[in-house]
Amino acid sequence: MDWWSPARVWRSRVYRYRLIAGRCKSCGRAHYPPANACPYCGSRGLDNVELPRVGRILSYSIVYTTPFEDKDKSPVILGLIDLGVTRLVAEIVDVKPEDVKMGDRVEAVFRRISVDGGTGLIVYGIKFRPVRMG
Ligand SMILES: [Zn+2]
Repeated sequence: MDWWSPARVWRSRVYRYRLIAGRCKSCGRAHYPPANACPYCGSRGLDNVELPRVGRILSYSIVYTTPFEDKDKSPVILGLIDLGVTRLVAEIVDVKPEDVKMGDRVEAVFRRISVDGGTGLIVYGIKFRPVRMG
């Protein structure tokens, strides 16, 4: 299955254009992106909840090789972002790798993720950038 297929991108647009997470009615925990069953307790009783757009960097890693063919820039910073109700892994942009610090406040931004060379389909998604002070 082609992960970047137009049909798949279209079906998942709501979850990538907004920060919509799944929240379990049984155990109350949230997860992103939403799944068909709670990854913590397996319950299928789920609600959708919109996540806060500002969080903190719990940890990060600098990735020097990526699977994205159109990536002309490297490295990529992948962060584990704490949004309070859940955590997620996302690219951190608009900052140099040497300037990233654990605990930094970051906010969600909407950015191009990939271009499919065959179809010309541009895939957008959520990334995070540091919150500028002052
Ligand atoms: Zn659960």
